[in-house]
Amino acid sequence: MSIAQNLHSIKVSLPKEVTLVAVSKTKSVETILEAYQAGQTIFGENKVQEMVEKYEQLPNDIEWHMIGHLQSNKVKYMASFVSLIHGVDSFKLLKEIDKQAQKHERVINCLLQIKIASEDSKFGMGFSEAQSILTSESLKKLQHVNIIGVMGMATFTTDQEIVTSEFNYLKGAFEQLKEIQPDLSVVSMGMSDDYSLAIACGSTMVRIGSRIFGARNY
Ligand SMILES: *Cc1c(COP(=O)(O)O)cnc(C)c1O
Repeated sequence: MSIAQNLHSIKVSLPKEVTLVAVSKTKSVETILEAYQAGQTIFGENKVQEMVEKYEQLPNDIEWHMIGHLQSNKVKYMASFVSLIHGVDSFKLLKEIDKQAQKHERVINCLLQIKIASEDSKFGMGFSEAQSILTSESLKKLQHVNIIGVMGMATFTTDQEIVTSEFNYLKGAFEQLKEIQPDLSVVSMGMSDDYSLAIACGSTMVRIGSRIFGARNY
C-alpha cells in the first residue's frame, strides 16, 4: 500500500471531529512530501532539531506538532513556527514556551500531558498538577500560551482492558479540567495500534505514524 492509500483508509475510518496527526519522526522530507501531496497537512515530530530541519525544507502551510518529551532549552528553536505542543508536563516548561512565544509575538497552543500509563518510562503530570496549573493565578500572566486540551500515552501492552481504562481515565480528566477551563477542546490519544479504541473512548486527535509510513528504522 502506498502512503496515499494508507492515509485514505485511515481518514475514511475517522469521525469528522477527529484530527489526524501524521507522525513523521525518522521519515525523510521526500516521504513527508508524498503524504502532503496526498492532502495531509498536519505532521508530528518528537525531536526539535529534526522538526526544524524538516520545517525549513517543506511547504509553509504544514502545521507542525511537537509530540515528544520536550526540554526547556529546546523550545526557542521552534517557537517561531510550532503549531501545537502536546507534551507539556510542567509549569516551568509552560513558562519557557510563553517566554519564547512572546519573542515572536505569537500565542502557542499547548496540551497538558497527563501520565496515564503505569510504566515509568512514560512522561506526564498527575491529574492534580494539571488541575492546579489551570486554576493558578500565575497561568493568567502567561499571555503567549493557550492550553487547549490534554494528551496521554497508554501503556505499551496488547491488553485492551488496561489501554481502555487508561484512555477512559484521560477522557474523565479532560471533562473535569473542562469545568475549570470550558474552552478546552482537544484530547490527544491513540496511535497506530490503538486509535480506534482511543476514539471510542473520546479521543479528538490521533497521532499515527507506522500505519501511514510503515515501520520506522532507528
Ligand atoms: C511515535 C509516536 C506516535 C506514533 O506511533 P505509531 O505507533 O507509529 O503510530 C504517537 N505518539 C507519540 C508521542 C509518538 O512518539
